[in-house]
Amino acid sequence: MTAIQRLSTQLVNQIAAGEVIDRPASVLKELLENALDAGATKISIQLKHGGTEVIRVTDNGCGIPKQEIALALERHATSKISTLEDIEHISTLGFRGEALPSIASVCRFSLTSNDQRDGNVGWLLAGEGGEFSDEIMPVRHAHGTTIEVKNLFFNVPARKKFLRTERTELQHCEAVLCKTALSRFAVAWIAKHNNRNFLELPPLADAQDNVRRVAKICGQQFAEQSIPVENSAQDLHINGWISLPTFSRSQADLQYFYVNGRAIRDKVIAHAVKQAYQDVLYHGRFPAFVLFLEIPPDQVDVNAHPMKHEVRFRQAKYVHGFIRHTLGKAIAETMPKAGPQAAQQYSKLADDYIQAVQAPNERSTSQVPNSVHSTAARTREPLQGYATAPSFNSAWHAQAPVTDAHTAALAPPLGYAIAQLHGIYILAQNAQGLVIIDMHAAHERIVYERLKVLYRQGNIATQPLLMPLTINLSRQEVALAEQHHEAFVKFGFQLESFGEESIVLREIPSLLQQADMSELIRDVLADLNMFGSSEKLEQATSKLLSTIACHSAVRANRKLTIAEMNALLREMETTEKSDQCNHGRPTWVPVSVEQLDKLFKRGQ
Ligand code: ADP
Ligand code: MG
Repeated sequence: MTAIQRLSTQLVNQIAAGEVIDRPASVLKELLENALDAGATKISIQLKHGGTEVIRVTDNGCGIPKQEIALALERHATSKISTLEDIEHISTLGFRGEALPSIASVCRFSLTSNDQRDGNVGWLLAGEGGEFSDEIMPVRHAHGTTIEVKNLFFNVPARKKFLRTERTELQHCEAVLCKTALSRFAVAWIAKHNNRNFLELPPLADAQDNVRRVAKICGQQFAEQSIPVENSAQDLHINGWISLPTFSRSQADLQYFYVNGRAIRDKVIAHAVKQAYQDVLYHGRFPAFVLFLEIPPDQVDVNAHPMKHEVRFRQAKYVHGFIRHTLGKAIAETMPKAGPQAAQQYSKLADDYIQAVQAPNERSTSQVPNSVHSTAARTREPLQGYATAPSFNSAWHAQAPVTDAHTAALAPPLGYAIAQLHGIYILAQNAQGLVIIDMHAAHERIVYERLKVLYRQGNIATQPLLMPLTINLSRQEVALAEQHHEAFVKFGFQLESFGEESIVLREIPSLLQQADMSELIRDVLADLNMFGSSEKLEQATSKLLSTIACHSAVRANRKLTIAEMNALLREMETTEKSDQCNHGRPTWVPVSVEQLDKLFKRGQ
C-alpha cells in the first residue's frame, strides 16, 4: 500500500459519476430534471449515436447568471436547498448538486446559459474530463440553458465497454424521455436523433387533452382500454389512468407512477396495485397504468436512492391503503353501464374482428381476438357435469324483449336477450346494436362476487346431502383434506370419515347444489396443496372461491330460456367487475349497428 493521499477533485467526481451515470440515458435524465427545475416550458433534445456521441438539451428555463456558471459545475453546489430542513420539503427534482460535476468529469462538456429574459447573449463554459477552461465566453443564446455532453466515457474505458448498441442506448434514452414527458403535460418536448425527429409532443394547456399524450406514449390501445381514476383523502390526491383488466400485459412495462411529479418505482405501490387487480388478472399478467400521486413533501423521503428512483413514505400503510382502495373501486365499477364510454370499451374487439374478416389474406387468423373466436375449440369440451345455474330459478324474472326503436332507447345497457348461440353465447339487442355475452364467463363472475360477500359475512349457506357422497381420492389428497378440514367447513363443506383412499361428503354449500362434487373437491384440494399452510390459505381464499365459482357457473351447452338469459344480463349490470371474468377475459362484446353496416359494406 502507498501512503494515504487526498483524491483530486476530478477523480472524486469520476467516482461519484459511477453512482449516477451509467449510460447516456442517465445523463439525459439529469439534464431533463435540471431543465424542469429551471421552470422550462419547452425542452429540445438532440442525440447522436444513441446519445453516446452527443446529448444536447436546450431549455427556455430561468438560466444561470454568468457569475454562477462555474459554481454550477462544482461538486455539492446547488441552488435548490440550503439547510437540512429544506430536504424535508423538497419540491424540485434535483437537490444534491452532484449531477453536473459528475457528468462533466466523464465527457467533453459545455454549458451555455442566458439568465436575461430580454437578451440574446449567453455565456459558455466548456471543458474535458472535468477540467474547464478559465474563460467564460459570450455566445448567442436565447433566454435559457443548453448543455452539451459529447463522447461520454471517452476517458473511462471501463465504463465505455459496457455501452450497448446505438439502438439499445437510444431505447433507454427514449424511455427516460417518455417517462419525463408524461410527468409534465404543459411542457413542449421535441427530440431528434441523428438529426431526425423522433418524438414531438406539443404542450397541453387543458387537462382534458392530457390523454392525447398518454395515447402517444403508451399507445392508442391503452388510451382506449383504460379508465380514468381520481381520488382524494386528507392530504393525498391521486389521478391518472389504469388499464381495464382485459388489457393486461405480459411484462410490467407500461407502468408509470409519479410522486409529486417524480417518476419512481416502489414496492409499497407495486403491491397495492397488485392487490387492487387481484382477482381480475391472470397469474403472471401485469396491469398498465399512469398514475400521479400528490403527497405533502414532508410525508415522503426522496433522498433514499442515489438516482432518486425510489422514495420512502413516512406512512407507507396509509398510502398503500389509499391506492389499493382507489384502484380497487375503479376496477369494481367495470360493469356494463349505459353511456358511450362503457359501450366503446370493448367495441374495439369487434372492430378488430371486422378488419380481420375483411382482409383475410393480409391478416393471420391469430389476430382475431379470442373472445370472438370460432366455437370449435369450446364445443370439444366434455359434455358431462353441467351444473344447473344455481341462480337460474324462478326468482329471476325477466322483461320481454324490446321490438320498436323507441323502447330500445330505454333498454338497459346490455339490452334484451334474443337467442343463445351454440350453447355458449347469448345474443342480445341493446340501443346500440348487438351484444354478445359469454354466458359461462359472465355467470362465473356473478357467482364469484356473491360467494365473496357471503364468505366475508361468514354466511355461506349449507345444505345436507340426502345421500352422503363417497369420493375416491389418492392417499395424499385424503391427508390434505384431513389437514384442511376447518377450511372446508368455512367454505360450507362437511367432510367425514376419512378412509384410506376416500372421504364422505355430507353437506355442501347450497349454491353448489348441482356442481360435480368429486371434481370440485379434487380441484380445491389441488389448490390447497399449492398454498400449503392455512395462513396462506386465508390469503388464497379468492383463488379457492374462484375455483368454486367456476364449478358452479352455468356450463356450455346448457339451454337457457330467454327469461333466464335476461335475468343473467340484469345481474351482470349490477355485479361488480362483471365486465370481465375471473381471469380477466371480457364477458361481453358489443357490436354496434354501424359496425355491422361496415361488415356488410352497407352505405359505402
Ligand atoms: P442539482 O440539480 O442537484 O442542484 P446539478 O449538478 O444538477 O445539481 O445542478 C447544479 C445547479 O446548476 C442547479 O442547482 C441549478 O442551479 C443549476 N442548473 C443546472 N442546470 C440548469 C438549467 N438547465 N437551468 C438553470 N439552472 C441550471
Ligand atoms: Mg440536477
